[in-house]
Amino acid sequence: ATLLRNAIVVSFIREVKSSIEKTYSKYRKVDLKMVIKPNIITDRILHAMATGNWPGGRTGVSQILDRTNMLSTLSHLRRVVSPLARAQPHFEARELHFTSWGRMCPFETPEGANIGLVKNLALMAHVSVGYDEREVEQLLIQLGVKPLTEILEELRERVRRGEGSSPAEYISWSKVYLNGRLIGVHPNGGELASRIRELRRQGKLSPEVNVAFFRGEYLNEVYVNCDAGRIRRPLLVVENGELKLRPEHVKMLKNGSLKFEDLVKKGVIEYLDPDEEENAYIALTPSEITKEHTHLEIWLPGTLGIVASIIPYPEHNQSPRNIYEAAMGKQSLGLYAANFQRRMDSRGHFLHYPQKPLVQTRALDVIGYNEKPAGQNMIVAVLTYTGYNIEDAVIMNKSSIERGLGRSTFFRVYTTVEYKYPGGQEDKLTVPSSDIRGYKGPRAYEKLEEDGIVAPETNVSGGDVLIGKVSPSRFMATQELTGSEQAKQDTSIVMRHGEKGVVDMVMITTDNDGNKLVKVRVRDLRIPELGDKFASRHGQKGVVGLIIPQYDMPFTEEGITPDLIINPHAFPSRMTVGQLIESIAGKVAALEGRLVDGTPFYKEDPERLMIVLKKHGYPETGEEAMYDGRTGELLKAPVFIGVVYYQKLHHMVSDKIHARARGPVQILTRQPTEGRARAGGLRWGEMEVDCLVGHGAAALLKESMIERSDKAVIYVCELCGHIGYYDKIRGRYVCPIHKEKGVLKPVEVSYSFKLLLQELMSMSVMPRIMLGDVREG
Ligand SMILES: [Zn+2]
Repeated sequence: ATLLRNAIVVSFIREVKSSIEKTYSKYRKVDLKMVIKPNIITDRILHAMATGNWPGGRTGVSQILDRTNMLSTLSHLRRVVSPLARAQPHFEARELHFTSWGRMCPFETPEGANIGLVKNLALMAHVSVGYDEREVEQLLIQLGVKPLTEILEELRERVRRGEGSSPAEYISWSKVYLNGRLIGVHPNGGELASRIRELRRQGKLSPEVNVAFFRGEYLNEVYVNCDAGRIRRPLLVVENGELKLRPEHVKMLKNGSLKFEDLVKKGVIEYLDPDEEENAYIALTPSEITKEHTHLEIWLPGTLGIVASIIPYPEHNQSPRNIYEAAMGKQSLGLYAANFQRRMDSRGHFLHYPQKPLVQTRALDVIGYNEKPAGQNMIVAVLTYTGYNIEDAVIMNKSSIERGLGRSTFFRVYTTVEYKYPGGQEDKLTVPSSDIRGYKGPRAYEKLEEDGIVAPETNVSGGDVLIGKVSPSRFMATQELTGSEQAKQDTSIVMRHGEKGVVDMVMITTDNDGNKLVKVRVRDLRIPELGDKFASRHGQKGVVGLIIPQYDMPFTEEGITPDLIINPHAFPSRMTVGQLIESIAGKVAALEGRLVDGTPFYKEDPERLMIVLKKHGYPETGEEAMYDGRTGELLKAPVFIGVVYYQKLHHMVSDKIHARARGPVQILTRQPTEGRARAGGLRWGEMEVDCLVGHGAAALLKESMIERSDKAVIYVCELCGHIGYYDKIRGRYVCPIHKEKGVLKPVEVSYSFKLLLQELMSMSVMPRIMLGDVREG
């Protein structure tokens, strides 16, 4: 904030100064009202906040909150971004450091350029807010710290008395640093540190203060920290081998008469920063506490971040799979906000029937995932069937989809404002008439009502105008010349190319400046189809490869058909054993009508789950005999089948499917535009060209690169090889060198090649095209 303020004030002053100088140099009276534009500072701050671009080239300072689902929102709020350049290796900065235990999630980091630089806080981690430094300094002096100023005074006195300048007696004392600043020395640093801790636990010192004492061969220092921005984590205090947390505390916590913060005030729990943790000896479980221990971990799964803590049995997975899931959990569709129907987010997805996972982790209740889940419990068989689930594809049960499995809705909001301009000009929301510049043809406007806005429940698709708007021309001059209506331009809001949907809600209101503001929300039903992406909570993702009617799906002896069939080859190399356990646990949950706990380190024992399965009359391995739904024959091997929680990811084919025959071209190169949003073509790149060259497919190559792309005919002089131009008076092409004596021949080239030649000419290079004989036939 300070940075922003300074930068803006500096540029503001510079601007005012230059405009005063300008007026003054014209011998005019300086009018402050004219010189200082009233909104300039507000506008600058708003612009910086909206774009995240801070003055001085810093980007990403403010970001748009991720609302894909509840998890992604929370995770975004706890993200820690390193300012280090991602282009450089910075190996040490990216590595998982031991002081990150309990502070940063070991799993949640992006893959690729930002790996290890973008981190997320662990569940229990807390960022210090700071405490008054002067007060702490006073306290330290009271506790016997000798300030540097006093020592200096003493030494000066000694020099005056001719006793030399050696501070001999202080050499052995401990140096005391407050927030990294040397403030003085203390005869016994260890004692000072334990005295500070004692005061803090008695509630006589802010719990924001941390102290660490370091003693080594050349080291004798006390670090006292009370500044903001340290990442700290709570631990249970152990004194003389005894836990300060008593059973009565737990009872009071349960009945609500005591809060977590009260335990911090009582000194039962304390927050340690990385410095102080160096002095601590922390037990992992109550049973291992000895006389030497100073603390006990509160809850081991609290070392994970928000997204990683939804994974059941993560300690049974190969570590990278948990990292993949930490990235994918943020892309799954669910209930991102309970009031989504009243909101006007610029875009959003929600799953129609989100479910609580049958296999839970205890963190799910803590973070509120069970209230806003993002997935569904599916019956999953691990089986190769029909061949359409090769290479991570999955087969889905058509009847399950018809019952609502994986069904979601996408919506997008289109916005416009009816602005008023200086000089009495203003925008108008209306159905534009055909004489307005940029008129899109009558078809585009046919869904508009008289007020120029579409009605709710109208079916709309790409290219349809949702809000008709007419604005005054950007060039005032042309307007004065031609008069009123003709100079106006069409600034209607058009539905995005390639999207379809139904108008869900129309909102008409005013903005802060009193201008009319219209928002139109369009919804689109998304039923799972071929190519949609699904993933379990173990980094096992796949796309739908085939949708089979229930009667053709394989079935068990009881007649159970799976919702989803995944390929067994997804397991051996990836080693996501956690998913296999979840499958068995989910089956137990379904059979017993209860939730199973898959919290890491505190989970329900998988061996016991197998016994429960056996008790219910199922094979304990989770495998069952199954029959082919098409033939009724018994499948040769037993099939592993159970209940697994699957997430629908927001990558859907309907957002990506794209083809074009004709369409827009770039103005400069005349080549087709790129990208789905611009109705672009699919690039036939250099490597693909080499492929056709290698096959000798010259005709196809010519068609792809010339005819279907940027074909152009240029006229080249046979004598000198220069490109000729058209002389309108003579009605023929002329050579720039030989004039009308030139012999000009039409040559088919790609327009971008012609552009290249002319760019070379602009750099004083003279490219020439030497023409040969045209081969007949
Ligand atoms: Zn010529």
